[in-house]
Amino acid sequence: MRIAMIGTGYVGLVSGACFSDFGHEVVCVDKDARKIELLHQNVMPIYEPGLAELVASNVKAGRLSFTTDLAEGVRDADAVFIAVGTPSRRGDGHADLSYVYAAAREIAENLTGPSVIVTKSTVPVGTGDEVERIIAEVAPTSGAKVVSNPEFLREGAAIEDFKRPDRVVVGTDDEDARQVMRDIYRPLSLNQGAPLLFTGRRTSELIKYAANAFLAVKITFINEIADLCESVGADVQEVSRGIGMDNRIGGKFLHAGPGYGGSCFPKDTLALLKTAADNETPLRIVEATVQVNDNRKRAMGRKVIKAMGGDAHGKTVAVLGLTFKPNTDDMRDAPSLSVIAALQDAGATVRAYDPEGVEQARPMLPGVEFSASPYAAAEGADALVIVTEWDEFRALDLGRMAKTLRTPLLVDLRNIYPAAEAERAGLELVSVGKPRKG
Ligand code: NAD
Repeated sequence: MRIAMIGTGYVGLVSGACFSDFGHEVVCVDKDARKIELLHQNVMPIYEPGLAELVASNVKAGRLSFTTDLAEGVRDADAVFIAVGTPSRRGDGHADLSYVYAAAREIAENLTGPSVIVTKSTVPVGTGDEVERIIAEVAPTSGAKVVSNPEFLREGAAIEDFKRPDRVVVGTDDEDARQVMRDIYRPLSLNQGAPLLFTGRRTSELIKYAANAFLAVKITFINEIADLCESVGADVQEVSRGIGMDNRIGGKFLHAGPGYGGSCFPKDTLALLKTAADNETPLRIVEATVQVNDNRKRAMGRKVIKAMGGDAHGKTVAVLGLTFKPNTDDMRDAPSLSVIAALQDAGATVRAYDPEGVEQARPMLPGVEFSASPYAAAEGADALVIVTEWDEFRALDLGRMAKTLRTPLLVDLRNIYPAAEAERAGLELVSVGKPRKG
């Protein structure tokens, strides 16, 4: 199959590289000439484990190429995937669909034959109808079909997720389009038996939002239970284990922490609420989730201040981990942004270390000093705060940390370290959802 991937970001680049690895011929298109230039030099514009090797091998095999010229990518394509961004529209939280519609128009102008146009971007219910209308207006005789195929990969494990998904959702009622999608995903179903779930287009669009909202609810639920644990002297990690062993609940997404962030949950929950409001069908559980999570991120800054004795003026806080999760350089809506803002607002100086996120973080975090290692960040600081659970923070030399810090205080917002280990090292430990000492 010949595939064009419009948008070469976290989703488009991984999807394009994986499709080419399945044996398809893939052209990845992006308007951002800098990204395409980097890719031509085999430099990845994003950090994602395994991606550089996957891209290099498929470029070498002649199945994967990059261009800024959409017409070149779309020419003779069996399927054109739209994987452009759908950020929150400034001001009102609706999904900004201008990139999707601009891409649809440009695709329609350059179609050379019947093709399947596949929306991989996360888009509100009804967007496929509008894409179809645009294609019909610009290219009335093209015979193109519009399909929804939302993406569920997670940054940091994106290749594995793409190649071994729990399911692939395809929304279309058109049998020819279904067949094209079966052919595209066949290598996947042959190898792993990953189910292809066919639905109507609107249903498929909603599945993506419902999935993200449910996961956001699950995280927020355990975060509130963590607060209750602190008040009543229970341990949230044991509560998570105890409820997660029930198959109806499941153990994933039950890690209490500083609140969800990232490029998807915050914007997608907001966009879903807008769809709900527009249709006069309020989603109160999701509304509460958004509100609770927003409050939580800054509250984590206050938690640090409280641990330092209630006054942050003139104090230095070392923050480990800035990206919204480990194994990515993505800083979009990262909880670290709110935690650090709360600390700075209270008069603290913040020193930070992150393995991959500093390039994106620097312009977003004015006033923060960036360090070359966790120990350099901790030098003479009044508290060490783990915000993102990168693997390299899981085996810190706590004894060394206790000596490096001015005040031996560790605020572990990811519950990486057991109390006994911190205590042995001479650190005072503040965790999330754990019984208080004394
Ligand atoms: P991104 O911002 O990393 O990438 C989008 C790319 O599209 C950019 O490189 C941009 O230059 C390019 N672009 C925009 N308009 C274009 C056009 N007309 N022609 C060519 N290129 C164009 O975004 P992302 O994180 O990859 O997300 C893309 C979509 O996938 C969003 O709808 C998002 O919600 C969804 N999604 C993201 C993830 C994730 O983990 N990032 C997971 C699942 C779904």
